[in-house]
Amino acid sequence: MIYKEFKDKKLSALGLGAMRLPVIDGNDAVIDEEKTAQMVAYSMAQGINYYDTAYGYHSGNSEIVMGKVLKNYPRDSFYLASKFPGYDLSNMDKVEEIFENQLKKCQVEYFDFYLFHNVCEMNIDQYLDEKYGIFDYLIKQKKNGRIKHLGFSAHGNYDTMKRFLEAYGEYMEFGQIQLNYLDWTFQQAKSKVELLTEYQIPVWVMEPLRGGKLASLSEENTAKLKELRPDEGVPAWAFRFLQSIPEVTVTLSGMSSFEQLKENIHTFEEEKVLSENEMKTILDIAAQMIRTTALPCTACHYCTSHCPQELDIPALLALYNEHCSTEGGFIAPMAMMAYAEEKKPSACVGCRSCEAVCPQQVKISEAMEDFAKRLKA
Ligand code: SF4
Ligand code: SF4
Repeated sequence: MIYKEFKDKKLSALGLGAMRLPVIDGNDAVIDEEKTAQMVAYSMAQGINYYDTAYGYHSGNSEIVMGKVLKNYPRDSFYLASKFPGYDLSNMDKVEEIFENQLKKCQVEYFDFYLFHNVCEMNIDQYLDEKYGIFDYLIKQKKNGRIKHLGFSAHGNYDTMKRFLEAYGEYMEFGQIQLNYLDWTFQQAKSKVELLTEYQIPVWVMEPLRGGKLASLSEENTAKLKELRPDEGVPAWAFRFLQSIPEVTVTLSGMSSFEQLKENIHTFEEEKVLSENEMKTILDIAAQMIRTTALPCTACHYCTSHCPQELDIPALLALYNEHCSTEGGFIAPMAMMAYAEEKKPSACVGCRSCEAVCPQQVKISEAMEDFAKRLKA
C-alpha cells in the first residue's frame, strides 16, 4: 500500500468509501454486514487505514455498520471520517444533535476526519449563515478533540467552492472533490485542485471512476490504453491518473464487492505515474467522450444579454451536459434547487434570440426544453 504524509499521520493513498457497501436483495438500506466485515478485514490486512462514511449513506445505516465492524479493531489502527449532512437543509439547525448521534452510531469518542458534506449551490448560504452555528460548533469539537481534522466535500461549482473557501478556507485541513480524468476539464476539477492549492489544502478524491463510468471504455479506447500499458486494466488507468496529480492525498473508492476491492488494492501497491504521452492519451479519450455526450458551450456568455428571461444559459448548459453525460444523477437536480422557478430551464420561451449570437451554434432552446423534461422525469 502506498502511504501519504498528512500532518502527523500516514494515510493509505486508497481509502474505503462506505457509500456503496454490499447490500442484501438489492435494498440499499440493508447492508450485508458479513460481507462488509470481510471487506474491512481484508482492507486492514492490506494496509488501508482510511474509512469514509457519512450520516446519510445507505439510509443512515453505513455509520452504524461501519461502527460495528470497526469496533473489532484498536481505535488507533484506523482513521474514521464522517460528515455533517448539510445536503438536507432541514438538518442545518441540528448540528449538535446530529454530531452526538453520529459518534454514538459509529461507537467512537472522536472522528479522525469530519467534513461539511457536499458544499454546493443549494446549501452554501446556509453553511455560511452564522445563525445555524455549524462552523462554530465544529470548530469547538475540534478544540475539544472530538474532531481531529476538519474539512469539506464539494459537488458544487467552482464559484461556490471559492465562496466557501473565502469564508472558511484557513480552517479547512482537506478538501474532498469529484476528480477523475473525465471531470478534469468537464467539472472544472483541474481549476478546483488549483484553488485548493492556493489555500494549501490537500486534495481528497471521490468518484475516481465517476460512479463506474470509467471502469470500462469503448473497444477502441481500451485498445489504445492496452497498447501503452499491456498489463494495466481500464479501471487502473483512472487511479494512475490520480497518482499523477501531486496534490492528491487520499483517493476514496466506494467498493461494493471483494473483487473490486482486491483489484483496487493491487493498483495501489505501487505508484505508476503517467508519462506525458500517457496523460495526453487519457485526456484525449476524456475529451472525445465529452464531445460525444456534451454540447460545446464555451461559457463565453455572448448569449446571456439576449435572453428575455435572463436565464444563466452557460450555467444551465453546464448542468445539462453533466446530467446527460451521467444519464441522470443527482448533481443537476441538486443544483437546480438553488434556482428560482423563473430561472430554471422550464422558463425558456423558445424565442431563440440566444442562438442567433452563439458562436458555437448550440441549439439552446432545444436543450432547455429537453433539460426541463429530464428534470421532471
Ligand atoms: S430561447 Fe430560451 S434561453 Fe434562449 S433567449 Fe429565448 S428564452 Fe432565453
Ligand atoms: S453563446 Fe453559446 S457558447 Fe457562449 S455561453 Fe451562450 S451557449 Fe455557450
